[in-house]
Amino acid sequence: MAGEPQADCLFCKIVSGDIPATIVRETDTTVAFRDINPQAPTHVLVIPRAHYPDAAALATAEPGLVADVLREAAEVAAEDKVDGTGYRVVFNTGAGAGQTVFHAHAHVLGGRGLEWPPG
Ligand code: 5GP
Ligand code: ZN
Repeated sequence: MAGEPQADCLFCKIVSGDIPATIVRETDTTVAFRDINPQAPTHVLVIPRAHYPDAAALATAEPGLVADVLREAAEVAAEDKVDGTGYRVVFNTGAGAGQTVFHAHAHVLGGRGLEWPPG
């Protein structure tokens, strides 16, 4: 069923606690944790607890949950004090864009200069 945990999904296992992560914030609907291979001083992943393969599927099925993820991204940026200098919220969508984990997630990147356009 849409949104149900997937046995072979790394991020579902972080949601369930089967795989440890450095969790920075949790809500009823989301979990935010530090990326294991950070690309910036602040690099946090915000995920919905529900499993959707990417942001597009999430937005189609549960648009309110997209808002939850974006609100949490802003809270993470504020807690890490990168909101003043600016930060980037990225949803890699599709393998060609660098998506490697197919459970929707927002990258929150900040704490250094961020080039535009991204590579
Ligand atoms: P994607 O490439 O799909 O946009 O992002 C997946 C992110 O998950 C990558 O930045 C990668 O470093 C991170 N990641 C992969 N495995 C783990 C893990 O076991 N724990 C944590 N905290 N991050 C992970
Ligand atoms: Zn999942």
